[in-house]
Amino acid sequence: MSDRKAITPPHLYRNNDKAVGVGNAFWDMSERNGLAGIVAELQDGVLRTGVGHEFVNFTCCSYLDLDSHPKVIDGAIAALRRFGVLDHCIPRSRVQIPALLELEASLGELFGATVVSAISAGVASAGLLPLIASGHLGNGIRPLMVFDKNCHVSLAGAKPTCADETEVVTCGHHDLGFLEDMCKQYQRVCYVVDGSDSLGGYAPVQELGALQEKYGMLVYYDDSHSISAYGERGIGYVRSHGPVLDERTITVATLNKAFGTSGAAILLDGYQKTTLRVIERFAGALCYSQPMNTAAVGASLASAEIHRTEELPALQQRMRDNIELFDTHIKTEQTGTTYPIRVVPMTDETVIESGRRVYEAGFYVSPVFFPIVARGTAGLRVMLRAGHTDEQIRRLCAVLIEVGAQQAAPLPEEAPLLEETAMPEEAAR
Ligand SMILES: *Cc1c(COP(=O)(O)O)cnc(C)c1O
Repeated sequence: MSDRKAITPPHLYRNNDKAVGVGNAFWDMSERNGLAGIVAELQDGVLRTGVGHEFVNFTCCSYLDLDSHPKVIDGAIAALRRFGVLDHCIPRSRVQIPALLELEASLGELFGATVVSAISAGVASAGLLPLIASGHLGNGIRPLMVFDKNCHVSLAGAKPTCADETEVVTCGHHDLGFLEDMCKQYQRVCYVVDGSDSLGGYAPVQELGALQEKYGMLVYYDDSHSISAYGERGIGYVRSHGPVLDERTITVATLNKAFGTSGAAILLDGYQKTTLRVIERFAGALCYSQPMNTAAVGASLASAEIHRTEELPALQQRMRDNIELFDTHIKTEQTGTTYPIRVVPMTDETVIESGRRVYEAGFYVSPVFFPIVARGTAGLRVMLRAGHTDEQIRRLCAVLIEVGAQQAAPLPEEAPLLEETAMPEEAAR
């Protein structure tokens, strides 16, 4: 027994001892205080638990509320009836029903790109990043893979698989100097970064575009947080402002947030059919038996149709109005940004208790605190959606102020007038 080997983990790119050790305490504490592990039924935008507690969710990423749009629900059902099967289980590279192709053509037209679908953004990245690392999605040269320090966990999770194909490094957040240095040293570099950060702020697409032009750098963007919520036809931040839209830019985006359905879109430009085949055959779970199922495809076709109408800009505007309304009441570091997430600062000691009081008052906001975020940056995370009513937002803000949120500075002189003239329209909503 004693001469059997114990393993010393290399922990080069991941460490579950640390992740579980740190994260689980956070979750246990949240659950003990009734702020995690909640089960509730959703009806008309209000959640109700088994013991009859009602609350409005302010931590849901369906920013435009398309997930419960009647046309999206009908689209899912119609596609099931039309194709007559939920998922014809076989890799699509062998045999597929036309559902995915129809969806990819629709999304391709909508976003002006070649679109490949996946069951989730996480699955897309886990499949694509190692192919980029080995040079098979690109020009054949293995790039140095540079992961932004703050990139989403679904991107960082691909580091070990990428590291078996090429060299992997992590850089500071948006560290353009480091990237240029690497571009000077290496034949090719691929930078992996979120298009829109989880707490506001966007990737420096112009500056990255300059490095792409000068050095042929590849950029892998995850624009999950801004697709649908931002830009014409919901094209997202990267494709609205990115200057390089060719094979040097690859963008992945979930369809599960503002797009309101399920699945993900990989947005490509300038790739040959042969490369698309390589993706279909070798990009990890993209080539296993499970693609987006027919209900998800039908829902997505319906959401894409909504994106083509005037309803989309109206929903985007409604979301922005709600963000602004929140900002007129509560001051956060995100005040004034177009991004739908706010963190209302609290102390590590008070944040759970505050979250509980807000929940009891009928609103779910998620507490984040040490050890999940750095000491001194605890807060209640609030996500605004198009579907929230002015009254819900005003009431939430009043409760937040009661539990210690900082009130926004009074508006400048002419602002009350503006608010007055806005009143009749607001009342009509
Ligand atoms: C939410 C999110 C994801 C997860 O998307 P799935 O489709 O659920 O895998 C990935 N990346 C970013 C940046 C996200 O915000």
